[in-house]
Formats: sequence, C-alpha cells, structure tokens
Amino acid sequence: MPQATAPAAAGSMPEVAIAADVLVVGGGPAGSAAATLLATRGRKVVLVEKDQHPRFHIGESLLPMSMPILAKLGVLDKVLGIGVRKTGADFPSTNSAGYRVFRFTRSLNPTWPHAVQVRRDQFDELLFRNAATHGVQCFENLNVSAMTEAANGITAVGKASTGQSYRIESTYLIDATGRDTLLGKQFHLKRRHATHQSAALFAHFSGVQRRSGDDAGNISIYRTADGWIWVIPLPGDVTSIGLVCGPQTLRHRSGDSAALLWQTLREVPGLSTRLENAAVVGPLRATGNYSYRCREVTGERWLMVGDAASFVDPVFSSGVHLALQSAVEAAEAVDHVLDRPQDRAIRWRAYAKARSSGQRHIEWLILRFNTPVMRNLFANPRNDWRLEEALISLLAGDFHRDGGIHWRFRVFQGIYLLACIASPLQAVRGLVSRWGRSLQTFDSRQHGTGAQ
Ligand SMILES: Cc1cc2nc3c(=O)[nH]c(=O)nc-3n(C[C@H](O)[C@H](O)[C@H](O)COP(=O)(O)OP(=O)(O)OC[C@H]3O[C@@H](n4cnc5c(N)ncnc54)[C@H](O)[C@@H]3O)c2cc1C
Repeated sequence: MPQATAPAAAGSMPEVAIAADVLVVGGGPAGSAAATLLATRGRKVVLVEKDQHPRFHIGESLLPMSMPILAKLGVLDKVLGIGVRKTGADFPSTNSAGYRVFRFTRSLNPTWPHAVQVRRDQFDELLFRNAATHGVQCFENLNVSAMTEAANGITAVGKASTGQSYRIESTYLIDATGRDTLLGKQFHLKRRHATHQSAALFAHFSGVQRRSGDDAGNISIYRTADGWIWVIPLPGDVTSIGLVCGPQTLRHRSGDSAALLWQTLREVPGLSTRLENAAVVGPLRATGNYSYRCREVTGERWLMVGDAASFVDPVFSSGVHLALQSAVEAAEAVDHVLDRPQDRAIRWRAYAKARSSGQRHIEWLILRFNTPVMRNLFANPRNDWRLEEALISLLAGDFHRDGGIHWRFRVFQGIYLLACIASPLQAVRGLVSRWGRSLQTFDSRQHGTGAQ
C-alpha cells in the first residue's frame, strides 16, 4: 500500500475518518516494528508519526540481540548496509591498553556475534518505509493528541501539520510515542524515576580516532566524575559523542554547553588523544530528566511499547533493543486478542510481566554503573563460573532468554554486595551520588537543541 500523506489544504475541510484493526501511534523503531509484524499477520494497521522521516533521533548504538528481530522484519541486510559493524563495547580499565573490550563473541550463548551502529535518521526511516511496504497505512506529519476508549474499541484524534483534523477508530491502540508517552501523560501514569536523573549533551564529530582492527566499530564508554561519555563510530568519518551527567553539572557550568562538553572530553584519560583532530559537525543537542516509568503499561484497549512505557539511561545501549523486543511481544499479544478477546486480561498481564522482567537485570546494572564498586568490577572482571560471559550476554541484549544467565547474574549481584561490605566508604559514596541525582532537574532548552 502506498504511503498516505496528509491533504494539503486546511480551512473548512471536514475531519478525515480512518478505521483499522490496530492504530500504532509513533513511527520510531517500536511503532514501525509492531505495525509491520501485525500487518504481516493480515491485520489492517494504521501507523502515525508526528514528524517527517528522515528526522534526527538519538540512540545510535544497537545490540546483537536486535539482529534477529530486524531479520524478522525483513530489513537486516539493509540495516547492515547503513551501519558500522559493532563487535563489542569497551570500558575503562587499569590494564596497559587503558580499556577492556567486552566482545560479543564471548557471550554465554553467542547467537549473534555483532550488532551495528547506525544514524537514526536513516534507520528509523528504513523501518518506517518497510512498514508501508508490508501494507501498513502510514501517515507522517500527523500528531495524535488524545484517545478515548469505548466498548468496542478506541477513537484517537489528531491534527496534520497542514491543519487537517483526523479521527481514527480501531479495535486496539499501541502507544509507541517514545518519551512523549502519549497515554502516560493523558492518564497521568508517568512517574519520574525515584533515584536516577540525568542530562545529556551530544553532537556528531569528524576526525575522531577509532580503535584498530576488529574493534574499530566498538562503542567506547568513558567515566567522568558524575556520569559517563559515549563514543559511537558511524558511517563515514562521523562519530557520535555524548556526555551524560547529573543535571546540576550542566546548570552550574561556567561557560556555554559546547565549552563544557569540550572541556570534559579533553579531561578524560585515553579520550583526549582520540580527539586531537576532532571537530563538531552539526548542532550540539541536549536532553534531560529522561528516567521514568509508567505505572501501567496496558489498559482495556491499549498497550505501551518501547520508551512510551519507560526509560532509564542509555549507558548499555539497551533502548532500541527493548523497544523492538516489546514491539514483538505487543504485536503477538494484540494479534492473539483480536481473535480471542476473552484472553485479553491474561495476555496483557503476560506482556507487562515479560517487559519488566526483561529490563530487570539491565536496570540494576545501569543504576549502579557509576558507583566506585561497579567501576572496579567492570575494570577488572573475573570469569569464574563464566560470570563475565553472562555479563557480556546482558550487554548483547540477551535479557529474555535464560541459558544460565540469570543465576550467574544473581551471583554477580552477590559479589557486588560483598564488595560493598568490604569497601563501605566506596559503597556510601556510590549511594550518596545515586540519591543526589534524584533531586536534580534540567531544562534542555538552555543547553542546546532539545532532542528526542
Ligand atoms: C541521550 C540518549 C542516548 C541514547 N543512546 C542510545 C543508544 O546508543 N542505543 C540505544 O539502543 N538506545 C539509546 N537511547 C534510547 C533510544 O533513543 C530509545 O530507547 C529508542 O529510540 C526508543 O524507541 P521508541 O520507538 O520507543 O521511541 P522513539 O524512537 O522515541 O520513537 C517515538 C516516535 O513517536 C513519535 N511521536 C511522539 N508523539 C507522537 C504523537 N503524539 N503522534 C504521533 N507521533 C508521535 C515521535 O516523533 C517518534 O518518532 C538513548 C537515549 C538517550 C536519551
């Protein structure tokens, strides 16, 4: 089906009415994936995006466990074609190289030895257009503003950038609106994360020195006093670099945001030499206070997927994978319930449970990533009982399968606890910095272009 576009004239045109089995709001990775999978099962699906692809989005480092999902969507070869091969993630270490690579080939059950780094404008457009080629009726420049539930379905209303109003009726709605969280806001379900608040400053750079050989596509993570930095090689001579820090660091900076970014990057051992010939290309962007979760992720006739439901912190590049995985699970649940509505409560509960259990381990790691104790464990990991391999599995996005990962992760958690008991001063410093973050807020408009 060709991609639909909003009519050009506004004025007194009557509202456009559309009907579907499923309305998916939000044309990012989660929305495009859910819509495609439902359309391949013969469902009539409408996918609505408020922007026009291609558009900038942050979140450029993918995980190996997303590769089979991209294959299922029929876009894997195209994604590999627009990306840089990523075989691992490197973190600071006290070894002679100054960093340690967690290679995906060393995960516990290495199904996929690599992922890719992508420009999200290209990646998201590819997934969105792919939905259209699978028969999804796609709209861009159409902002859905609200939804009401009725006995037999939902009605959503929205406005195109031309001013044209739309009314879309469907049996179910999937909210894939990312950090806009359409239904989270409408139903007041969104809760700021209790102990974790961060802000990020980021830009694309040219001239950044890459790792050598197979490691050239690694994501590099560096730590700073109250946060961390990502370095993501993208196609061409473009590298995405971002600083994640406590909102206070941005608010109390002495110069402008660009000066803060450069100063912080240059102070990080091992990174400054990689930046000797670097220059910023394109705008500096900022975003903040992005850690939250929605109290409920399902309602009578709707489910939330991806960031619409929750988001914590991107340190392990888990956002897109969790978005795609939740889209797969939501599409299966909705497809089932369209035929057997009596199973709705049970399928919705199973969906919500799978989502939160998939995220549990990675969130635990994220929240402790910058504590002194975790710094040590990451700098000098041990592979007794194959614990390091289990950790690499999680870094590869293997959140949903078991294969020995879960008990090993619990042992790792135990080791963390023992290390905290053995170094109480470090443990207290970690706790203080975590709780300190929870009190901070941030306004992205003061620091650069606000970004999704
Ligand atoms: C600083 C930072 C760095 C990150 N780095 C990474 C990384 O390296 N790797 C990674 O995997 N993840 C990363 N993430 C997370 C990643 O960006 C998200 O998890 C991912 O994009 C979620 O996908 P999604 O489809 O749920 O939402 P999105 O990608 O946000 O898509 C939502 C879409 O919905 C549209 N929309 C919103 N409201 C409406 C509406 N009312 N009507 C119609 N359309 C609407 C938006 O325009 C958007 O296109 C990062 C996040 C941040 C904040």
